[in-house]
Amino acid sequence: MKAELIAKFAARFGRAPAVIARAPGRLEFIGNHTDYNGGTVLGVPIDRGIWVAVAARDDGRRRFCSEAGGAIKTLPVENPPAKQRGAGSWLNYPLGVIAALPEFGLRPPAGFDFLALSDLPSGAGLSSSAALELASALAFLALGGQDAPRATVVQLCRRAENHFVGVPCGILDQGVSGFGQKDHLVHIDCRGPSFATVPLPAAARFWVFNTHTKHALVDGLYAARHRECMAAAQLLGVALLADVSPAALEAARAKLPPVEFRRARHIVEEIARVDATVTALRAGDLAAAGRLLTASHRSSQLLFENSTPELDFLVDQLTAAPHVHGARLTGGGFGGAVMALTTPEFSEAQATAVATAYAEKFGARPDVLRASTGDGAALQ
Ligand code: ADP
Ligand code: MG
Repeated sequence: MKAELIAKFAARFGRAPAVIARAPGRLEFIGNHTDYNGGTVLGVPIDRGIWVAVAARDDGRRRFCSEAGGAIKTLPVENPPAKQRGAGSWLNYPLGVIAALPEFGLRPPAGFDFLALSDLPSGAGLSSSAALELASALAFLALGGQDAPRATVVQLCRRAENHFVGVPCGILDQGVSGFGQKDHLVHIDCRGPSFATVPLPAAARFWVFNTHTKHALVDGLYAARHRECMAAAQLLGVALLADVSPAALEAARAKLPPVEFRRARHIVEEIARVDATVTALRAGDLAAAGRLLTASHRSSQLLFENSTPELDFLVDQLTAAPHVHGARLTGGGFGGAVMALTTPEFSEAQATAVATAYAEKFGARPDVLRASTGDGAALQ
């Protein structure tokens, strides 16, 4: 990819880039809706990502180009433009990073030429948006001769997405891309936030089945789950559900209406499952980790009620297949993708069989993607 990026940069801008950065996409491994409840989550940095090349200009212009986005777009350094719409909307990610830099005491870059190249599907729940932010941020900082703690870079990229782009994502996307390491998962305590890595046995493989389904009411359903969790915490007398253990919740069961109890039970048990997954992985036990993934899905299905028949079907198919440790919906739910943790023996033919069974039932084929862990965001 690096040689291709340098060649394309030369073809577009007639010169060599000064700085190259790359950041990976991610999978949510386990920790479903735990982030805004002050809990923990585990993410996988995958072996696909976005590359960004930049070179400084001194004529007060910023020129952007993406292989995906087509033509060069030129913007002035002075009076930076507000949010872009239409074909230029991908610029909001690097522009959001530029806008966030001063909020974290860092200098925004002056003029530059910018080219992005990607081998990460966009809009597939693999967080291409965070990869683009992280790669842009590292490139801009290096171009200006600045350095910043990794946690700062991660938080400013999240700020870019929350404030400039306007997507209320949690810290998982940027945290995993920023703190990722090959053959490791990223373990995030969302309340700090604080970041750590957990070794993952090298035999782990990931398969993602993206259904491209999305519940028509997904935003409202997210908001409802958020509300139900906060209501449960209030009835339990805590700030956030992460402050309640599964045993304490069971003891306080009478305080909650049935719906709030189910939501709370999902969250507190999911946080316990994240801890148990870390323990299983530290023991090198992928089979135990896989069982926890499937348990997480069943909890989404029955307690949090953020699964769908499409996602349940994929999990049922996958967990019945050989060489699969476990499977679950990945991301917010109400549609989207299922992730399976498998041994290296799980084959393309098996994945195709699952996709075919799904197509026969639901009339559309899911996209199938194989991934393994990869490096975190870094200058190249
Ligand atoms: P996800 O983060 O799950 O991939 P999002 O909707 O959050 O989905 O982000 C996708 C957006 O990120 C795209 O619509 C586009 O604006 C931007 N993006 C992703 N990949 C690229 C790329 N290679 N070049 C330019 N923009 C990209
Ligand atoms: Mg995204």
